Amino acid sequence: MAEEPRKIVILGGGLTGISAALHLRRPWVLFEREAKLGGLAVTEERDGFHFDLTGHWLHLRDPAIKQLVAEVLPVEMASVQRRARIFSHGVTTLYPFQANLFGLPPEVIKECLLGVIQAKLQAPGAHPRNFEEYCLQHFGAGISRHFMIPYNEKLWGVHPRTITADWCSRFVPLPNLEEVVAGAVGADAGRMGYNISFLYPKQGGIETLTRALGARIQGGEVNLRSKVESLDFRRREVLVAGERVPYHAVVATLPLPELLARMPGLPDDIASHATRLRCTTLRYLNVATRSPPRADWHWVYVPEKNLPFYRVGIYSNAAAGMAPAGAASFYVELAERGPVSDATLSEVAQALTTIGAIGSPEDIRFADAREIKYAYVVFDEHYRAATTAIFRFLESHSIYPRGRYGAWAYNAMEDCLLAGREVAGTIEAALGSKTP
Ligand SMILES: Cc1cc2nc3c(=O)[nH]c(=O)nc-3n(C[C@H](O)[C@H](O)[C@H](O)COP(=O)(O)OP(=O)(O)OC[C@H]3O[C@@H](n4cnc5c(N)ncnc54)[C@H](O)[C@@H]3O)c2cc1C
Repeated sequence: MAEEPRKIVILGGGLTGISAALHLRRPWVLFEREAKLGGLAVTEERDGFHFDLTGHWLHLRDPAIKQLVAEVLPVEMASVQRRARIFSHGVTTLYPFQANLFGLPPEVIKECLLGVIQAKLQAPGAHPRNFEEYCLQHFGAGISRHFMIPYNEKLWGVHPRTITADWCSRFVPLPNLEEVVAGAVGADAGRMGYNISFLYPKQGGIETLTRALGARIQGGEVNLRSKVESLDFRRREVLVAGERVPYHAVVATLPLPELLARMPGLPDDIASHATRLRCTTLRYLNVATRSPPRADWHWVYVPEKNLPFYRVGIYSNAAAGMAPAGAASFYVELAERGPVSDATLSEVAQALTTIGAIGSPEDIRFADAREIKYAYVVFDEHYRAATTAIFRFLESHSIYPRGRYGAWAYNAMEDCLLAGREVAGTIEAALGSKTP
């Protein structure tokens, strides 16, 4: 019997899977569990209000990815100057906190400045063992206490002393002393951070980008509503909807624990590393208001323990088409990990009023609770050993884990587009002259 031809199999059709498909030159087949492509980069619509899976603002650095986006959406993207804020101690200040202390109560500014000066005066310490130490070394005690620790504890759902600083190099701006002082006295500290401006579709939310990229893929087969059931790494076959698909190589973009759980016969050490992979689940709200927002920001960080969310964003402040005229669409990322109750909803409505996002709770037309099961990979003390061993094992079987949850990382959409391009090249090189 003739052997079925082997292909390159892409598991998952989020931005990483789409990008791999776009960049592969050999035949591929993609399996996506949902009814449409996009993964986290999709947009919901209700009554004319549009919501991404919380804020999905596009930050591009790579020239080829910039060109790709410009080609698929030549006029549909707007470049938006970031308006990011912090709400703490009852006031709204500029982002990032560490470079914009101006406007905070004087005793807080004093504590933060003294902390930074003390931290800068100290001889460089040992490599920080955890994120709390990282914050104390770089920002000192005040900024750590008033922003870094409480904000990150709300975001990660665990204390910063239980995570490492491995994730934060690009995402946490590090001002020098002059910039901190300038920001404390209200002199322009400069606009810091990786996201000073961002791209965003004028219409239709981030899914506009996903669709445009998806429309461009060719040279393979996209299977939607196709959940991968198992992967037999010894026979090099994937089982989907009862069908066995032989592969040359696999691009695995589904969450790493989900992949490993579908691989019977894992060596004991790999199975044991798999039990150590941790991730937070995010609960958030799509909020629609019947009136314009009170705030002009795109998003605000909220370190305060007594407020139920850690970040709130207003889509329609970035793209007016995200809500009907005279109304607004918001995302509210909740600190609470449990199910969203009516009490939470009324607490959120009150807190949105407190931070000056809306005029009163009555402005809210609806608030829909949503969940992202895999949201933030937790970089704890097991992370490095577990991922190193797991990736080595997978790649030795021509399974290439990529993307935010495939590669078990903290990254952004552009990183996923880059990972798809990189893995296509890696696989082409590994297969060499093998016929498809
Ligand atoms: C709260 C939050 C906010 C974010 N904000 C931003 C932002 O502002 N800017 C930015 O650039 N990035 C942002 N990101 C990051 C961005 O969403 C990701 O980097 C990117 O979308 C991940 O793409 P991916 O393809 O790797 O993974 P995913 O989008 O998760 O795609 C994986 C795909 O695999 C599919 N799948 C899962 N299991 C199976 C199975 N068994 N069989 C078949 N298919 C399966 C899923 O349905 C999904 O489509 C944010 C992420 C989060 C969580």
